[in-house]
Amino acid sequence: MTKKVLKFGGTSVGTIERIQHVAKIIGKERDLGNEIIVVVSAMAGKTNELIKLSSSITNNFNKRELDVLLSSGEQVTCALLAGALNQIKIDAKSWLNWQIPILTEGDHSNARIINMNINNINNYIKKGVAVIPGFQGVSKSGDITTIGRGGSDATAVAVAKIFDTDSCEIYTDVDGVFSTDPKKIPVAKKIDKISYDEMLELSSLGAKVMQSSAVQTAMMYDIPLEVKSTFTDRKGTKIFNQENIDYTKSVTGVAYSKDESKVTLIGVEDKPGVAANIFEPLNKAQINVDMVIQNISSDQKTTDITFTIKRDDLLKTIELLKINNRIKYKSISHNDKVAKVSIVGAGMVSTPGVTYKMFRGLADEKINILAISTSEIKLSVIIDEENTLNAVKKLHTIFDLD
Ligand code: ADP
Ligand code: ASP
Ligand code: MG
Repeated sequence: MTKKVLKFGGTSVGTIERIQHVAKIIGKERDLGNEIIVVVSAMAGKTNELIKLSSSITNNFNKRELDVLLSSGEQVTCALLAGALNQIKIDAKSWLNWQIPILTEGDHSNARIINMNINNINNYIKKGVAVIPGFQGVSKSGDITTIGRGGSDATAVAVAKIFDTDSCEIYTDVDGVFSTDPKKIPVAKKIDKISYDEMLELSSLGAKVMQSSAVQTAMMYDIPLEVKSTFTDRKGTKIFNQENIDYTKSVTGVAYSKDESKVTLIGVEDKPGVAANIFEPLNKAQINVDMVIQNISSDQKTTDITFTIKRDDLLKTIELLKINNRIKYKSISHNDKVAKVSIVGAGMVSTPGVTYKMFRGLADEKINILAISTSEIKLSVIIDEENTLNAVKKLHTIFDLD
């Protein structure tokens, strides 16, 4: 008997017809004799709608209550899907996060799944399909928590690990992982198999087809994943541990994120400890600083420091810099109309000239690079947001991905 976790994302369960279609996919898997745990997302757009409702009261909505509110999206889908399965004569039952329970630790809206009770569900899937909500859990103190946007992927991987399933299948609205977002760049190509490392970079850099913390957990416990379409029968993408691969291409994919902003402190004192004093309050406020550039000072006394952060953190960052009396500077400038475009590929390690080729390509398109960061298998640049798709297209072409 094969035990499987099947996860269906928001678009896959976005309408009643789609939920009925998903029920048929599950029915086929059940007919093959598999034991099935289904993880569902909220219907497409539902989570955003709930966030909007809360912000119509205040932008600073109580975090505990926000998690109670947001978790309700998945509750609706669980019941609808279990009901749709029953309707086509398949035994199915939904569980809410606290009924399992899915235990989490960490802050509201950013919790982590640490355990689940497996007994009831393991007994139930011998005869029927268990349907459980993604994206949420309950803390030791009994509070409902959510685990970050796109978190149903992480729930699916946690189920695969904790229930020791034989496979973890992520059903979504595209055929698999592509060389870049196929909805924005139609010449993007589906990737048949990809390593955890590359997938982790791509998802952290903006390819939302897989949530990055889900990939991280899968990599940590070596849980192979398969991303495939709810709407076609085409073969999907396998994500697993690929060692000794002979990479034919230097670059596997291009990712982008428009979720960025750039801050420059002009005329900062150039002496030991200044950078630490700038970033300490940001660190305390859990603001993640991504790229940092320090110019060489012309007068040997002052310098300019530029760094990038998520756009949502911009106002808080400026506020913290302004009240920070441990640093002296002439002025602050910021720009929230920037984007990060990245190329990712394990083959970059063994291919010389990738950096030059990327910069040349962007220069040919007259795209100015505002900041750069590199790692072994990725190269990211910050550019003006309006140039994003142009840059992605160009890089996709010059690295032979079209
Ligand atoms: P789900 O609701 O199923 O979790 P998401 O919307 O979170 O689906 O992720 C799927 C979307 O990710 C696709 O519709 C596609 O637009 C986007 N995407 C971005 N980059 C990629 C990529 N490299 N490959 C595939 N899809 C991508
Ligand atoms: N419904 C949640 C969200 O929109 C979780 C998910 O879809 O994975 O972020
Ligand atoms: Mg998703």
